[in-house]
Amino acid sequence: MDKIRSDKAQTYVVEHLDPELGPWSALEYQAITQESASAGLNFCLSSVPRELELPSELRAICNLVIEHQSVEDIFKDDKERICLLDPAAKAELSPEDAAKFDVFLFGGILGDDPPRDRTSELRKKGFNGRRLGPVQMTTDTAVRVTRMVVQQKVPLNEIPYVDYPELPIDEHESTEMPFRYVKDADGLPVMPKGMIDLIKKDSEKGFEDLL
Ligand code: SAH
Repeated sequence: MDKIRSDKAQTYVVEHLDPELGPWSALEYQAITQESASAGLNFCLSSVPRELELPSELRAICNLVIEHQSVEDIFKDDKERICLLDPAAKAELSPEDAAKFDVFLFGGILGDDPPRDRTSELRKKGFNGRRLGPVQMTTDTAVRVTRMVVQQKVPLNEIPYVDYPELPIDEHESTEMPFRYVKDADGLPVMPKGMIDLIKKDSEKGFEDLL
């Protein structure tokens, strides 16, 4: 707690809501931790069950703060200063929100298609909510976009995006990712390091299961 509130920097919290923590989440959390550190922001993964065996990629990151408590318990005295990034919120996130909130909260949920609205588990706790546009993002993208809006003050509609990119798996097959990503300088979706290889491996497995 003191570790994550040690200075006036904004704090980003991903509340882990899945019972497991698989390789996809590990790569996403790894990217969020590294990018938050380079941007001078605090990052904490909350609600991590004590018995959960963390993948080695995550254990290897020394600046990752893991909390077993839930976000409500950690910040119980200043709930008003927490902003839940919520695909169903009425108001869009804007650069002015940097002055209203100190903590930005995300659901640690693997994206699903169609979305099952598991962010509702956090919404029902009564946090203030903001939307990042109408399209579902991966958790690391949602964190990246929030940082661009509240730290770099770029309005949501000026951020370049790639929606539903097609990733080639081999020379015959490609797979469509049902999410919105930030577009990099080469026009490609920004993804955590290692994610494309993992997607390829999982799709090959998927194709083999069909045979
Ligand atoms: N399928 C999901 C969304 C998971 S995405 C669901 O069941 O709710 C993981 C997290 O990223 C969400 O909990 C939310 O905090 C954030 N997020 C993703 N897309 C968003 C959007 N368009 N607006 C606001 N937050 C978003």
